Parts: sequence; C-alpha cells; structure tokens
Amino acid sequence: MSEWTPQQSADLYRIADWGEGFFSVSPQGDLRVHPRGAYAGSSAAAIEPERSIDLPHLVGELERRGLRRPMLIRFSDILATRIEHLAGCFAEAIEENEYGGRWRGVYPIKVNQQAHVVEEVVGFGKPFGVGLEAGSKPELLIALALLDTEDALLVCNGYKDRAYVETALLAQRLGRTPVIVVDRYNEIDVIVKAAASLGIRPHIGLRARLSTVGAGRWIESSGEHSKFGLSAGELVGAVERLRSEDMLDCIELLHFHIGSQITSIRAHKDALREAMRIYVGLHRLGADSLHLLDVGGGLGVDYMGGGTDDPSSMNYSTQEYANDIVYAASQACADAGIPEPDIITESGRAMVAHHSVLVFDVIGVNRDQSPAHPPSCDDDDHAVLHALREAVESIAPETLSECYHDLLHGRDEAASLFSLGYLDLRGRAKSESLFHAGCRRIGEVLAQLGETPEEFDDLTALLTDTYFGNFSIFQSAPDAWAVKQVFPVMPIHRLDETPSRNGTIVDLTCDSDGRLDRFIGEHEEQPTLRLHPWNGAPYFLAVFLVGAYQEILGDLHNLFGDTDAVHVRLDDDAGYEVEHFVVGDAVSEVLDYVQYDRRALSERVRRTIERALREGRISLEDSALLRKRYDQGLDGYTYLSDES
Ligand SMILES: *Cc1c(COP(=O)(O)O)cnc(C)c1O
Repeated sequence: MSEWTPQQSADLYRIADWGEGFFSVSPQGDLRVHPRGAYAGSSAAAIEPERSIDLPHLVGELERRGLRRPMLIRFSDILATRIEHLAGCFAEAIEENEYGGRWRGVYPIKVNQQAHVVEEVVGFGKPFGVGLEAGSKPELLIALALLDTEDALLVCNGYKDRAYVETALLAQRLGRTPVIVVDRYNEIDVIVKAAASLGIRPHIGLRARLSTVGAGRWIESSGEHSKFGLSAGELVGAVERLRSEDMLDCIELLHFHIGSQITSIRAHKDALREAMRIYVGLHRLGADSLHLLDVGGGLGVDYMGGGTDDPSSMNYSTQEYANDIVYAASQACADAGIPEPDIITESGRAMVAHHSVLVFDVIGVNRDQSPAHPPSCDDDDHAVLHALREAVESIAPETLSECYHDLLHGRDEAASLFSLGYLDLRGRAKSESLFHAGCRRIGEVLAQLGETPEEFDDLTALLTDTYFGNFSIFQSAPDAWAVKQVFPVMPIHRLDETPSRNGTIVDLTCDSDGRLDRFIGEHEEQPTLRLHPWNGAPYFLAVFLVGAYQEILGDLHNLFGDTDAVHVRLDDDAGYEVEHFVVGDAVSEVLDYVQYDRRALSERVRRTIERALREGRISLEDSALLRKRYDQGLDGYTYLSDES
C-alpha cells in the first residue's frame, strides 16, 4: 500500500497554479474537469464547482463510442467560462473607473480556426457582443459567414487586396460592422478607390507601429521593425490623405498589437501609454470620429502557473490587465478632454487555450538500465574495467565530481579499446554496466544532498525512464518543439499512487526532437516528470492548455495526421453531451496531401502480389492477408492502436 495521496499529486503537478479552477484530483486519484471553473468574478450561474467530469471515465466512454487514441477533447463550457471571465474583468474595470466606453472584444480566428471552435466563440460571446478578427482573406470569408451577432465588430487585419477590401465593404450591406484596418500605408489607396466605386462609407482603422517592444517570445511583431503598422509620419499622412478625400470621419479605430503571450504587465502598460498619446494626437489632428481603441492580442496564459515573466508564464492577471487598460484610457481622455473610446481586445490565446486537452496513451517504456550493484571484476578483466570499478567504489559526497570524470573517461576508453579490438563485446557490456552503476550511485548521493550541480545534467538524463507516447508533438503540441514552450503534462489517473519514476516522454515520430522534456518544476522548468511505473495496462497522460495555436500550426511530420476530436458539453441534469465528433485523418487522407493516390498505390501492390503468386513466393492465404492489411492500413488511423 502506498502512502501517496491524491492531494500530493495535485501539489506535485501544480494543478491549482495553472488550472484556473478547471481541474482537480478526485479522492479516487482521477483527474477531474470542472468545466465551469470557479472564477470569483463570474456570474452566479457559472460557479457550480460540483458539476465536474471524471476525465479517465470520459476517455473510456469516448473510446466505447469509437474515438481513438490520441484524442483531443474540447470542453465547450471551459471556452464559455473563459469568455465570460474576460468580459467580466472588463465589466468590473469599467464600473470601477466609471468609464464611459464599453468592452467589445473580438476573437482572432487564426488562433484556432476550427469551425466548431469559431462557432462556439460566436455563440458564447453573443451576450457580450464578441466579434471576430480576420487576418487574411480566408479568415474574412469565415467571419462573414459565421458572425451574426448584432452590433459586433468584424476587425479586418492583414494584407489586403482589392477583393479583400470589397468583400469587407459589402459586408456592411448585410448589416455587419467591418472595420478595415490600414496595416500598410498603401492600403489607403485601395480602400478609398473601392469605397468610392461601391458608394460605401467605410469604417477605417489605423494600425500604429509602436516603438514599445513587447515582452516574451514574440517581440518581433512589435517595435520599429514590425511587419505591420504605420509610423508617426504615416499616421499624419493618413489623416491628411483621408481629409483630402473628405473621409476624415471614416477613421473610427486605432489599432496596435505588440505580440502574443506578453509575459510582463509592464510591456502592456508602456504600449498603452504610447498608444493613448497617438489616440489623443489623432483627435487633435481632426480625426474626432475616432471612438474605438483596439489593443490587439497579447494577453498571456500562465502555462507554468508560476506567475513570473518566464516565456511560458505571465506576471499579471486578466483583471489587472483589464484594469490597466481602462485606467490608462480613462486618464488620457480626461487629460485631453475627449470622450472615452470603446475598448476592443483581440485576445485569442487567453480565450481558447484552456478548453482543449490532448489525451494519449503510453505504449512502452525504456527503463533506466542502471544496475543497483556494480558487476564484479576478476583477474581476466581488462584494466579499464578495474579502473571503472574502482571509480564506482570511491563514490562519496566529497568525491562526486572526480569520480564522475573517472567514469566518463573509463567509458570512453573502453569504447575506443573495443573499436581497436582490445576489448570484446562482453567486456564492452561490462564497462557500460559499471558506468551506469556508478551514475546511479552518484544520483543517489545527489538526491541525498538535495541539489544537482549543472555538470551532472547528462547524468540525470541517464537515470530517467523514457515513456513512449502514442502521439506526435509536431501535430499536437508544436510549440513545445518550435519555441520550447512548457505545457502542463500529467497522468490523468493513478493519482493516488506514488509516481516513483522519473521520465521524459517521446512521441511516435522518428525525430529526436519529438519529445516532451520541459515540465513544470518547483521554481522553473525541469527536464523530467514524475510518472508511475508502467505495468502494461493502459496508462493515460494528457497535455493541457493546447487550445491556442497548437492544432493549427501542427504538421504532418512522419505523416501522423490530425487526431480524433470531440466537444464535450455539460447538460442540464449533471451529465454531459458529446458533440461534433470529428474523425481524425485516415492514412489515405494524409497520403493524399502529399499527392499519393490511394487507388494507384493499392493497385501497384496488387500487381506485385500477383507476380509473387505466379512465382510461387507467397501463398494465396498470405497474399489475401497482405492485401487486407494494406487496405485496412490505408483506411486506418495514423496512430497506433492495440486492437487485435
Ligand atoms: C495573432 C494576433 C492576435 C492574437 O494574439 P493573442 O496573443 O493570441 O491574443 C491578435 N491580433 C493580431 C493582429 C494578431 O496578429
């Protein structure tokens, strides 16, 4: 019997720090999802902590419905709660500051373009007037079709050609409110001409290029060299140009965006101060129809739960963010004696990150091979083995570094003696055992000392197990690889058992980068995760907070395709409904992306089989089995299954 408690698991994996009240551990040691969260600021109906879903149980039910592993589960109520929370924080800030404008958030489609996700954002956002932001023509077409919320804004960003601008303008005839944001100076021309020929007065936004630089990983999208935005000179030019066209009153919005996952509140404050100077400046130039302040995205997600300015964390809350924006806008307007603008946020990450969870199973484990006792040496053994054995014997707290160097030296020496023919395969094997036994002993001493100096990092890696996960990082958590982002990862069951192993997690791809080796640590990230010993029974792990950017940036490395996905929604009587069962890619679909024709492939294999039959190299039965397996393979999932 282990003494380990579910609470210890909750503490170990720091659920309270990153989970925003959406996750907990049940007394039975299962991960529970509380899709309605527990935000103090939410409406009363939103606080129903007793309504929760047992995640391993849900996974079991989904499997019985035919969903395969790995699977992406989207909790619609988490999405709704996050939208309510953001709206609630602004409502509070506006009330607190007796602010004259309102909040009119838009959701940037690029953050997660999945149809069901965008539909849900529009639906859940309706009571708060949430609109959409499009950054390209395809996204504009999505927004035009999906956004039917009265009075909601459709913010049009990105590179624009005539077709883009005309589509946006014509949306006004449908009763929509598109704001065409001038991202680059020469777009003014396109807008002026298209508006004149259609006879439509456009809602124009100006994107300012701030000199304030963001903080975090995406600072390139801000500052003097950013791809988008008008310099001070261009802003003045834009006002003059539009005045000369008698379109000064079309300037309604000022936009800026200093990057995504801004980790420091300071960067937001600095940007806002500069932006409000521009806002007031534009009014002074005569653009007094300006009434919308669009502060872009950048509201962070605390993936590590540390509340720091680490790139995977953030040092402020959503409420603080809302307070600072409202306060800065209110002060600047009071000083200048102009009306307070409505505030538009383009927070994408903060809206959708929490609602998606990727669940995958472990298909095998390479255990750390170090023996508890070093093998003995006799007279026949090579001197290098005796030297290694001596290094192992001498390990003590005060000789750690020296012994470690002796072990490394002995191991390398044995390897070259082996190559040169002076050590046989058995001898080489013994050298490895001695080396690993030594590493293990050093690891034990380090554990007693309670700290691990950097020089032993490689050693720590040697002493960890490798868990093979049935998923692809490149498909399902690409930022873990691309920008070394930390995501919360943990087992979803057995949380009442001691997680006695130290592991890293590798995926199914043949790429050595296909691994998760950044986890939430006590103070900073750490390379290993505490996991349970694998006993061959299904062992489920999950990656959390993957709703923003991950599924959309995912790629087909090694041709692992989209995973199965579902939306799960609480129903009225304390149960849940499964909606939008989205079947992941079949192998043939993935092959089709890279221009293989399913029938042609199958036909070629069939012909090769016929030849083998004629030449008597395969039996009829085996040929039938091979064809069956081949066709099943084409129809099947790209991930592993344990069906017989
Ligand atoms: C990407 C992007 C966003 C979304 O940013 P988040 O940090 O995900 O909220 C908002 N606005 C613009 C212009 C963007 O390019």
